[in-house]
Amino acid sequence: MNKKIVIIGAGISGLATAYILSGSNKYDITVLAKEFSPNITSNRAAAFWYPYQIRFDKRGIAWSKKSYDFFKELANDASSGISMKHLLKVIRKDVVEEAPVWLEFIPEGVCTIVPENQLAPDVQKAYDVLVPLVETQIFLPYLQNIFSTRNVVFKQQEVKSFDELSSFDIIINCTGLGARSLCHDDAIIPIRGQIVLLETDTSMPIYMDNETPLYIVPRKDAMIVGGTYERGVYDAVTEPETLERILSNAYNVFPQLKNHKILGNWAGLRPYRPQVRVEREPDTNIIHNYGHGGSGFTLSFGCASDVANLVEQMN
Ligand SMILES: Cc1cc2nc3c(=O)[nH]c(=O)nc-3n(C[C@H](O)[C@H](O)[C@H](O)COP(=O)(O)OP(=O)(O)OC[C@H]3O[C@@H](n4cnc5c(N)ncnc54)[C@H](O)[C@@H]3O)c2cc1C
Repeated sequence: MNKKIVIIGAGISGLATAYILSGSNKYDITVLAKEFSPNITSNRAAAFWYPYQIRFDKRGIAWSKKSYDFFKELANDASSGISMKHLLKVIRKDVVEEAPVWLEFIPEGVCTIVPENQLAPDVQKAYDVLVPLVETQIFLPYLQNIFSTRNVVFKQQEVKSFDELSSFDIIINCTGLGARSLCHDDAIIPIRGQIVLLETDTSMPIYMDNETPLYIVPRKDAMIVGGTYERGVYDAVTEPETLERILSNAYNVFPQLKNHKILGNWAGLRPYRPQVRVEREPDTNIIHNYGHGGSGFTLSFGCASDVANLVEQMN
């Protein structure tokens, strides 16, 4: 008989895990979630591939590279919502560049340094990196469609305690910020991000200046302009003065954006934990996969592969 696996959470961490595990016919998989796309953090992401807030955790190197390869492959299927885009990561002249350890996370041959004579006057250095852009509004339903052919069962349910799930052989916890109460884990906190949506121009590269901070992500439906990193803020709401500041930062660098209609805004809570938790809880049938902060998409399929290995070891 197939092992019965329950995955709690239907964000990118839960869906990537379900995707990898359902690839073999070895398991009966149920996904339980309090909320589904589009009402979850994973729909609030920008969501381009970049190892953010994971640079000092060497496990992130394999996770990021594995996810990169996975998304790159999927970019061949236009209906997946994944495309390969140029990311311009700039370091302004008034900041000191931290050691670029993130370079270890990127696959070989996808990054070049922009020649000095092509830099804006206030920029000391810029990297041009070819990265996957995940259009969440297309990709999450795309994954959902695949599951309908793989017999994965989805149920809306809030899990208050792991004890409720005693009928399953293996429990996989992908609850993001929900792990704070489910696992009584105070290490996980929200980092709020606010963004503005502008009329898009898909000919532009993704632009990122982590110090301002400013990032611009030209998706097909809208251009995401962010953002903020507000630690410990639990309200997923935007503030008019912050949105104005985000826009003014963007207009400073790209004055032409003033002609782009404002389409909306949103806020999301990144599930940040100093150490992403991917491990089996000793002496239990529970595997955790949460706390990916601002890199949930970047780490998703890599972490999911590690979870699949842990599941294998329990067989
Ligand atoms: C503004 C912004 C920009 C971002 N940009 C990027 C980016 O460019 N690149 C990138 O890689 N990442 C980015 N991120 C981060 C990324 O969005 C997150 O890391 C990722 O979405 C986390 O996914 P998750 O599946 O772990 O959590 P979530 O998407 O929050 O999903 C958690 C799931 O668990 C369910 N759940 C929680 N508690 C319970 C419970 N008790 N019972 C049942 N179900 C429960 C929820 O309902 C939900 O289905 C960004 C985030 C924000 C906010």
